[in-house]
Amino acid sequence: MNLGLRNCNLEFILNQIESTPSGRKLREKFRSIQTTFSIGLHPYPNSLAQRLREVVEPLHPLGAATVWDTQSAMIYYDCTESLGVLIPYLAHEMAHGIEAEKVLSLHGSPISNIKKSQIVFELERSAFDWQFKIIQELKDLDSEVSQFYREHYSHVWTLRACPSDHDIKIHYRLQDQFASASSDVKNY
Ligand SMILES: [Zn+2]
Repeated sequence: MNLGLRNCNLEFILNQIESTPSGRKLREKFRSIQTTFSIGLHPYPNSLAQRLREVVEPLHPLGAATVWDTQSAMIYYDCTESLGVLIPYLAHEMAHGIEAEKVLSLHGSPISNIKKSQIVFELERSAFDWQFKIIQELKDLDSEVSQFYREHYSHVWTLRACPSDHDIKIHYRLQDQFASASSDVKNY
């Protein structure tokens, strides 16, 4: 598989995800959620890509991101990126998509910061697990996949290796809430 290939055909990219057992499972779940909840996939509009470039670390790919509404969501992806970026990033966003109800619970009735942190942690944990299961299966199929990520993306934490729980808590700034949550538990 040529992960350096840049091909913006969505069906082609999704087919590469589906070439792995976990990717097939993810896409099946994604299709079934799409019957009840509208989730589209579309290249980033220029204005959104520009806004993101201002906040994303330099050299970090824009990859993909989901914009949520109450009844629908749109997964945007960066058409200028290689397959090696789009496969894991789209898989990550699709993994959030299959948990649409959980994502929307963050924006529904008021919830505590601790509860919010727990939900964000669970969502990210699950999305990274899906993403890296698919990448691992691609590595199992093709020995050049590991080399591709080592050569091109060792500087990108979301592509280098499956993040630990600790990495996720730090990156999403969930550490403090979790720390105080666990000390609460000890008091009881
Ligand atoms: Zn995520």
